[in-house]
Amino acid sequence: MIAVTTARGRKVAVFGLGGSGLATAEALIAGGADVVAFDDSEASRQQAAEKGVAIVDLHGIDWDEIDMLVLAPGVPLTHPEPHWSVKLASAKGVPVVGDIELLAEEIRATAPTAPLVAITGTNGKSTTTALIAHLLVSAGRDVQLGGNIGRAVLSLDPPVPTRTYVIECSSFQIDLAPTLDPTVGVLLNLSPDHLDRHGTMEAYAAIKERLVTASRTAVVGVDDALSRAIADRLEKRGGKLVRISAKEMLAEGYYYAGGTVWSGSEVAADLAGIGSLRGTHNGQNAAAAIAAVSALGLSREAITAGLKTFPGLAHRMEEVGSLGRILFINDSKATNADSTAQALATFTDIHWILGGKPKIGGIASLAGFFPRVAKAYLIGQASDEFAATLDGQVAYERCGTIEAALGRATEEASASAADEPVVLLSPACASYDQFKNFEVRGDRFRELVAAIPGVHPRVVPAQG
Ligand code: ADP
Repeated sequence: MIAVTTARGRKVAVFGLGGSGLATAEALIAGGADVVAFDDSEASRQQAAEKGVAIVDLHGIDWDEIDMLVLAPGVPLTHPEPHWSVKLASAKGVPVVGDIELLAEEIRATAPTAPLVAITGTNGKSTTTALIAHLLVSAGRDVQLGGNIGRAVLSLDPPVPTRTYVIECSSFQIDLAPTLDPTVGVLLNLSPDHLDRHGTMEAYAAIKERLVTASRTAVVGVDDALSRAIADRLEKRGGKLVRISAKEMLAEGYYYAGGTVWSGSEVAADLAGIGSLRGTHNGQNAAAAIAAVSALGLSREAITAGLKTFPGLAHRMEEVGSLGRILFINDSKATNADSTAQALATFTDIHWILGGKPKIGGIASLAGFFPRVAKAYLIGQASDEFAATLDGQVAYERCGTIEAALGRATEEASASAADEPVVLLSPACASYDQFKNFEVRGDRFRELVAAIPGVHPRVVPAQG
């Protein structure tokens, strides 16, 4: 745990006592702050009280005495409207921050040379964060990985000068970290997401821009117009900027083309044969990771060695097994058409298991990929809607359950004449009609694949 010494002797209110909120309250107490905490859920309050956290209804406190409010990242700071605790704090001019702000302050106070890598973007954050951490660990660095992926940042090991923090930041977390100043900041891409929480695309992009603007080295993807504009502004300001692309050649920076990450005219890394980094989207993630660790001094040899052993993350185009020529891929994290597009663009001869609780827009946007699909196997609530979209374009079958779909897909892939038929679970839907969440859905798929006679299962990679 990181004892937050920067708040010693100060009076701090904490709202939100889920995983990271509770870790925050404990870290503040350990550092010597006077903490009062609250949560709307009785169960969370109880759990925190059992750990020695003073539970006080923040409606009733004297906010003039409070030095700061620490908010859990799931609690609205601005949209759709500020949470009541934020309104009470703001009315008295009390600063509102999150746990990543406290981490940044603690690093500055106790080990200012400890590198901090912060990763954000609409898509690919977890993969890129995990890859950066993996490359650094493989090269022998002392690394702590956390934030939006994995552990709450204040439950990580404390800062020492040689320890590198690799932190995935959602836009909510950046919003709550006004002085976050990463050694390397990565902005992968920007597309409409979470507008319910940020109001407009401009506001969402501005929050992400703040992260890279405050970074000593900024790594910025230039494959969408908003991120490209951010890179151009950074360049004008004269900061250290490394552009990355998976769409175009760049004279400077890192770009992905044809399975290789290039640095200008030189090969930075060859991704061929690395199953955990298939697909153009992972080319973008790998280019960003290579740029980030290069800025931290890793050699090309160390990067090449590390890439080869990257296990990937569960449920993101995760190779779960093979049966002769057939490859089984678990892409359960693909809960919308945009994510599924990445998988459909990566493979051919696809026996595609899809469906669940449909999202607005369905799979109509995927029509361009339909020629790559040998057959679709429909499950869950979306079956009728998706059948209507596929009708006349792709052979399909209503299977109802994932069990039935996998059985039929395996049977038909076995009979396929293709070189490498792929049985792909990439649902383009939420899972809630049949599963607790996408992880449970993906785990079930992995189990079912492992139980197919003759399948060579693959070791389960880390959870994202
Ligand atoms: P995040 O943490 O931002 O949600 P993940 O690394 O968990 O991202 O990947 C989630 C899904 O997003 C993947 O399954 C894939 O479909 C898609 N994805 C991953 N990286 C990218 C990228 N660079 N660009 C576009 N989509 C991506």
